Amino acid sequence: MTAETPITQDVMTLPRKAPEGGKVNLVGLTRDGLRDALIAHGTPEKQAKMRVGQIWQWIYQKGVRSFEEMTNLSKAYRAELETHFTIAVPEVVSRLVSNDGTRKYLVRIAGGHEVEVVYIPEEGRGTLCVSSQVGCTLTCSFCHTGTQKLVRNLTAAEIVGQIMVARDDLGEWPEPGRAPKNETRLLSNIVLMGMGEPLYNFDNVRDAMKIAMDGEGISLSRRRITLSTSGVVPEIARCAEEIGCLLAVSFHATTNEVRDKLVPINKRWNIETLLGALKEYPRLSNSERITFEYVMLKDVNDSDADARRLVKLISGIPAKINLIPFNEWPGSPYQRSDEARIRAFADIIYKAGYASPIRTPRGEDIMAACGQLKSATERARKSRKQIEAEIQAEG
Ligand code: SAH
Ligand code: SF4
Repeated sequence: MTAETPITQDVMTLPRKAPEGGKVNLVGLTRDGLRDALIAHGTPEKQAKMRVGQIWQWIYQKGVRSFEEMTNLSKAYRAELETHFTIAVPEVVSRLVSNDGTRKYLVRIAGGHEVEVVYIPEEGRGTLCVSSQVGCTLTCSFCHTGTQKLVRNLTAAEIVGQIMVARDDLGEWPEPGRAPKNETRLLSNIVLMGMGEPLYNFDNVRDAMKIAMDGEGISLSRRRITLSTSGVVPEIARCAEEIGCLLAVSFHATTNEVRDKLVPINKRWNIETLLGALKEYPRLSNSERITFEYVMLKDVNDSDADARRLVKLISGIPAKINLIPFNEWPGSPYQRSDEARIRAFADIIYKAGYASPIRTPRGEDIMAACGQLKSATERARKSRKQIEAEIQAEG
């Protein structure tokens, strides 16, 4: 990023309502939004609350996609719903399964855009890595998504829809009355660590996560949802108050000079300002620890001095430090730190009293690891350009 490049959140968001004459998608509406939509299309106000509860459960607990299947509603009411509304989730255009069981879905959303969603099965849990934007307006120099030019905010429907299509694929829509406990679910955790900066699409992310946390919705505990931000300071307190999920922060450097280069939003809100907001987060959200993500880049941010500075900087903040070995992508300008270096770095942090897990890269063979996500169309476009450049160079 150059000094002139604006750090902006001014990207297009699709309107919630379907265009004139189209049907309104009920997925992604808040409970209030659903209620308003039903009333606007003829449901008597007195019945609306009950109808919201019924429809909500069919969509989010039972996973049905047609009004026909909502058998506790009268036939006439189902037909009426059918004329005004739809239950639409993104279309899965491809599904890749890694050697290690990681699944990567490419989903298509309105406008023909594509985003990636990754499911990571682990011992005793399964985590879905959800995207919040097509591409990202930020341009972190180590991140593949940051090189994608095309950016659009996802709607709440498209965000919660990612969870729904993953549950379709996992076959995890429980029998009525047999909602599984969080601990035994295949999809038990959500991380907002896919494509995009979730705090630059705050309202849609919040509405989608409210559905994910709703006891009659997807019903995941707020402690099983982690939002990762590059450091959009003004939205951090709102995230605590309005979502209340766990927070991860893409820290990645221990001096402003280096962080300016790696995470350019640092030029707007620097390390000190960011730490000030993070200190408040556990109290505001009533949660325990913040996860500091730290990508290990050879000879850039991986020295013993960095590890010591990091420990000093975060002192006083309940924290876990997640060390992420850099995942390379075609043309990436950095290298992954050596294993021994990562271990030495982890050791310093551990001795200072912090948990310092080293994140095992998952799904590398299908380009599903952190920071490798970028839509296939964009990749194809880029490689065509590269091919043209090569042809010209040869000619
Ligand atoms: N925009 C948000 C969330 C998406 S990125 C954020 O930046 O926090 C999820 C995590 O992957 C972030 O910590 C990001 O810094 C990290 N990441 C990005 N590119 C990476 C790469 N090539 N290798 C390893 N981690 C990467
Ligand atoms: Fe965007 Fe996060 Fe990638 Fe930075 S690391 S470019 S904020 S997705």
